[in-house]
Formats: sequence, structure tokens, C-alpha cells
Amino acid sequence: MAILACAQTSILRGYLNKRITIFSDSRAALLAINVPRVDSALVGECKEVLNRRASTNRVRLLWVPGHTRVKGNERADELARKGANTPMTRPESAVGLAKNVIRTGISRWTEAQLDMAWRREPKARQAHIFMRHWDRERTSYLMKLDRSALRKAIGVLTGHCRLRRHLHLLGLEKDKRCRKCEQEEETPPHILCFCSVEKGKRNQILGSYFPDSKDIESIPLGAILHFFREGGWPL
Ligand SMILES: [Zn+2]
Repeated sequence: MAILACAQTSILRGYLNKRITIFSDSRAALLAINVPRVDSALVGECKEVLNRRASTNRVRLLWVPGHTRVKGNERADELARKGANTPMTRPESAVGLAKNVIRTGISRWTEAQLDMAWRREPKARQAHIFMRHWDRERTSYLMKLDRSALRKAIGVLTGHCRLRRHLHLLGLEKDKRCRKCEQEEETPPHILCFCSVEKGKRNQILGSYFPDSKDIESIPLGAILHFFREGGWPL
């Protein structure tokens, strides 16, 4: 708003072929003006006026630290205080935050809500073993997979896949024990953390002979799916 007012003042004064330098202590405002795509009417208007000024003058925008006794800056602060006590002229000036700051705030709040909802979810016992928290990276990896790869990845994380224990629960398989070691139920946690037959492959692909569930949580899903593929496990 203040930058726009400065640019408009220079128009009123009829400056031509002058060097116009506008100082601002608002990094947010300077950044907003500097981005190529503008989605704020106020910033758009400001850019337009500045560009018009720049066609007949040399215009520079400079950042100055706030509250450091820069004469013009102190005067601007004084006017801003006055402005805060006068009725609003447009809706945008009511929120003194850049759009990206608001967007980031909303996004962080949403992620915190998702995380809390996931931790409180009493169902999905196995999914909680490998996903204790809501994970932004894992979520965006999953969102990019095609239908078939997504089904397999979800199968590993939830146990709802073609491994023996799940097929046994569905009444499609008699034996629920691991087909390779026959020691425990054939589940993703068994294969990823405990199966003695698979320890060499685990070390080679996942970086540990016997990783625990926390280790698995930090291994990229792509490597986990590769490990299952290499072992010939049906998912
Ligand atoms: Zn096994």
C-alpha cells in the first residue's frame, strides 16, 4: 500500500527522466512485487503503476531495516499508525500478511490436524507400525504412483495384499506361515524385519540385516517395493 502510494505520488509530481528510489522495510511487500505471477489485485495495481513510472524514469525498490531511525521510514511508520486508526478503504489492507505466509500457515495447520487424526485412529493396526506419523514425503510419493504400484505400496503398508496371512484371513489360503522360513506368519513386517531367509537381501537393498519398524519408516517406499519385487513376493 505504501509503495503504491509512493509511486502514485511520483505520478502526481510529474517526474520525468528522474531516478526514483522507493525504500521499504517490508520484505513481504518487496517479494510480492518481485514474483512474475501476481494473484493479488493490490500487488497487481502496484506493479502496473511502478512499470508505468519506470517507462519514463529509473525506478528502484530498496529494502531498509525497520525501526532503525531512518528518517523517511519513521515518517512512514507514523503514517501507518495513523492509517490503522482510520476506516479501511479496501478488503486487502485488512490482513497485513503476504498470501504465501497465509498459505504456509494453513498448510501447516492442516498437516498437524491430519497427523493428530492419524495418531488417534484406533483401527489400521499394521499401518500404524510403519507409519506412526503423517508423512508429507511419503504421501506425495504415493500420490504420484500409477494404480497398480499404488495398490502394491498400500498393500505393504497395511498388510492388505497377496501375502499368506491376508489370504488366510480371506479364506483363500490354508497356510499362513512364511513360505520361505516357515517360522512366522507371512506379513510385510515379518518379511521386512524378521525373516531369516531374507536378511542378505534386506542388507543389500534396505541397508540393514534386521531393521526395526522405525528404520523401515525412514526407508523410501520405492526401495521397499524394489525389495519385495527382488524377493519374488506377491503383493
Ligand atoms: Zn520368513
